[in-house]
Amino acid sequence: MLGGGPAGLMAAETIAAAGHRAVVFERMPSPGRKFLMAGRGGLNLTHSEPLPEFLRRYGAAEARLAPHVGAFPPDALRAWCEALGQETFTGTSGRVFPKAMKASPLLRAWLERLREGGVEIRTRHLWHGFDAGGHLRFTTPEGDITHAPGAVVLALGGASWPRLGADGGWTGALPGLAIAPFRPSNCGFRIGWSAVFRTRFAGTPLKRIALSFGGRTVRGEAVISAEGIEGGAVYALSAPMRDAIAARGSTVAMLDLRPDLGTEEVALRLAAPRRGQSLSTFLRKALGLPPVSIGLLQEALHEGVPAERLPDLVKALPLRLLAPLGLERAISSAGGLALAELDEGLMLRRHPGLFAAGEMLDWEAPTGGYLLQACFATGRTAGRKAVEWLAQRRQPASSTP
Ligand SMILES: Cc1cc2nc3c(=O)[nH]c(=O)nc-3n(C[C@H](O)[C@H](O)[C@H](O)COP(=O)(O)OP(=O)(O)OC[C@H]3O[C@@H](n4cnc5c(N)ncnc54)[C@H](O)[C@@H]3O)c2cc1C
Repeated sequence: MLGGGPAGLMAAETIAAAGHRAVVFERMPSPGRKFLMAGRGGLNLTHSEPLPEFLRRYGAAEARLAPHVGAFPPDALRAWCEALGQETFTGTSGRVFPKAMKASPLLRAWLERLREGGVEIRTRHLWHGFDAGGHLRFTTPEGDITHAPGAVVLALGGASWPRLGADGGWTGALPGLAIAPFRPSNCGFRIGWSAVFRTRFAGTPLKRIALSFGGRTVRGEAVISAEGIEGGAVYALSAPMRDAIAARGSTVAMLDLRPDLGTEEVALRLAAPRRGQSLSTFLRKALGLPPVSIGLLQEALHEGVPAERLPDLVKALPLRLLAPLGLERAISSAGGLALAELDEGLMLRRHPGLFAAGEMLDWEAPTGGYLLQACFATGRTAGRKAVEWLAQRRQPASSTP
């Protein structure tokens, strides 16, 4: 296995369980760093919605991912997690989390079980391609080495949060294959805030708002940052917003600051006499808006929106999105190895014996547990198919030189 994230470790577990020797090569000093980072947000492992709905979240990649997620569905992932001593629960949104709300106890138990199952993890091994004989080439603290395993599972991750290990550098090691450029997914967006607004509100959450774009509306939360806007509601619409910016240079999303109040009710409340109150005090009292929402309205008014349009602005405040914030802070990445390069068993059509799994493949999904679910499921398929491949070739899955 190349890469010690959820996909690579799941492939290793599957191969070792079939009685083969499995070695994971990981460039970082320890495996699962992005998995641990995902745990900081509670570790949303998967989602409890019915499978057909679940699969639709993979958009264009639905048909290609369905067999893998179908073979290792959300319930199987929950059972796997619970077998490692981590009970799961379903939150009000239908999202599934381990009760511990973090990844470290799960990863610890998993690494221990892998070790007992004979999986070897070699850290500080940076893979960078093949030598003339087709052997894997690594740079290690002890110098450059090569390995020639019976089968290889690539699970090198996407390109978000590169400091956690997956930086997309592997693309250079697979010449001649169709690889879509990496783009941020589940990401924030740059907005040209005024200096006053930025200084006052960077880091402030926008609670109970609704964001609309491209005919879809998402209720939830967002966070104002110095550069723009981030958070759950923004991530949920980030793929179409990113694509619209790529096509047109910038785009506009609409923010509803009081989604629980109808337009008429907002207009009625704002029609009441101000009685000498400042605009901020009036908005706070009439609509219960927090300072950050009032600040957003004031930004729009300063940009020239006439004051009589205030009720409309409360319900549909235009946010001009200038660019997606970079891969460094995106939850995941779109792009990667084209699914068309793989057969149904996730083996590279042009490289028999070489399989690929996880976020390095060209698919994307919103947050909600869909990312980890697909990484685990494709890791499982790649491991299973590598075992079948080895059985056909009747040779052990040794990763030793
Ligand atoms: C802040 C944050 C929060 C997240 N929260 C959630 C969540 O709640 N739910 C969810 O479903 N998903 C979440 N995700 C996404 C999820 O963590 C990833 O989709 C998942 O970890 C991808 O798994 P992977 O095994 O494909 O890749 P990775 O986890 O990225 O693992 C790939 C591994 O390969 C190694 N590697 C890369 N290149 C080389 C090389 N050349 N040689 C050797 N090793 C190499 C890397 O060091 C890395 O360890 C979150 C991500 C982030 C950043």
